[in-house]
Amino acid sequence: MSDAPVEPIEDDNVALEPIDELAALAEAVDGIDVERDVSSADFCTYRVGGPLALLVRVSNMEALAELAEAAVALAVPTLALGRGSNLLVADEGFDGLAIHLVGTFGETTIDDCTVVAGGAAALPVVARAPVAAGLTGFEWAVGVPGSIGGAVRMNAGGHGSDMSESVTSVQIADLHLGGLFRRDASSLAFGYRHSAIAPWEIVASATIELEYSEGFDSAQMLSDIVAWRREHQPGGANAGSVFTNPPDDSAGRLIDVTGLKGLRIGTAEVSEKHANFIQADPGGAASDVYKLMAEVARRVEDKTGVRLQAETHLVGFDDHPTGKADA
Ligand SMILES: Cc1cc2nc3c(=O)[nH]c(=O)nc-3n(C[C@H](O)[C@H](O)[C@H](O)COP(=O)(O)OP(=O)(O)OC[C@H]3O[C@@H](n4cnc5c(N)ncnc54)[C@H](O)[C@@H]3O)c2cc1C
Repeated sequence: MSDAPVEPIEDDNVALEPIDELAALAEAVDGIDVERDVSSADFCTYRVGGPLALLVRVSNMEALAELAEAAVALAVPTLALGRGSNLLVADEGFDGLAIHLVGTFGETTIDDCTVVAGGAAALPVVARAPVAAGLTGFEWAVGVPGSIGGAVRMNAGGHGSDMSESVTSVQIADLHLGGLFRRDASSLAFGYRHSAIAPWEIVASATIELEYSEGFDSAQMLSDIVAWRREHQPGGANAGSVFTNPPDDSAGRLIDVTGLKGLRIGTAEVSEKHANFIQADPGGAASDVYKLMAEVARRVEDKTGVRLQAETHLVGFDDHPTGKADA
């Protein structure tokens, strides 16, 4: 037996956690900015929520394709982050990869009646551009403060229309398959505030077909919608409708008749102006919004027998406030 001291083994290949490996791979890609432990409150219209473990800002299609390829083997949970106008992230945060499209993804082009809008393009901007080009069919979107990507995933809608009425195809980065794909609208299973787009599928752009206005006053329609929104919806920190409308009824009406306007839990309150909106106080807690959602759903069910379903996408909560697993 040798008396030689045991030399410690030098090991430069200590295995990285998948999320750290992904961060390192993403950092090496041109067109991607990487940040760690960023507050989700800065990205969500509720202005509450905990840290995003890994945030990547992707500014062009090539970079997105590279990220999708790198992500396949690492199987890190993914959150596509649009304008955060339909999201509630838990105070504990999201321990995965949050992807935020920026740069060229904010662009919109119009050719004849075809609009191609990037995944990060803001709906109110995309709604106005075709009107200026003499087209009609997308005016409804002027009051929805989301991005094209979030709107496709949610099949956002209003004023008698929704995304499914005019989206003909989308370009998607699939982080499970590792590439960019074009998908026809027929494969997206659009339903009421629903699509088949999975959390690991990032909508990079949408192709929208519209019609010539032919005398229809689209500009007037835009101003009517903006005025209607100002009159009927509150400002401040909220994420629009909290619950989807049950068949042949309205979630707002049910919450109102249950007497819940103004109900408060901690830093969250049911809006006095629109019963299906929850307002979060500055510096508030996501847990208060969540508890209030659960309480509203419980009381509405007790009073009316109707079980409300959340429209807001919940991230990082173990349970769903109304008992339904989140999409
Ligand atoms: C004042 C107010 C009024 C509103 N009015 C309406 C309305 O009239 N009609 C309506 O439908 N909604 C309305 N909303 C809700 C919200 O604006 C829409 O659901 C919108 O489409 C969400 O887009 P977003 O970019 O903010 O998505 P986010 O809130 O960031 O995300 C919502 C969901 O979409 C996913 N997602 C986001 N970006 C992408 C992407 N690029 N690719 C794939 N998935 C993505 C997210 O992961 C999440 O699951 C309102 C919200 C507010 C605050």
